[in-house]
Amino acid sequence: MSTRTSNERGIRPGKRESTMRGAVLYGAGDLRFEERDAPTIIKPTDAIIRIAATCVCGSDLWPYRGLQPIAEPTPMGHEYCGVVEEVGSAVRTLKPGQFVIG
Ligand SMILES: [Zn+2]
Repeated sequence: MSTRTSNERGIRPGKRESTMRGAVLYGAGDLRFEERDAPTIIKPTDAIIRIAATCVCGSDLWPYRGLQPIAEPTPMGHEYCGVVEEVGSAVRTLKPGQFVIG
């Protein structure tokens, strides 16, 4: 288990790490907080957001409770707010530095 605090992994504009931490559901009741590859822009419509806060969505509770099966470990946390770090070439409505809620 990591002993780093959130301040040590906090917002540091312009300094992106190669990994990030995320919540991943492995099965009913088996939610793990683990190191994952940092996101990259893959499609021109992508944006990378440095998360300030996130929460559980009601739709996350179905697989967590075992009422909706999952085929493989599944990242969770699609409700969020944070700061835009990078956008794909087709993104016109967001710019790095903007605070967004999704
Ligand atoms: Zn949701």
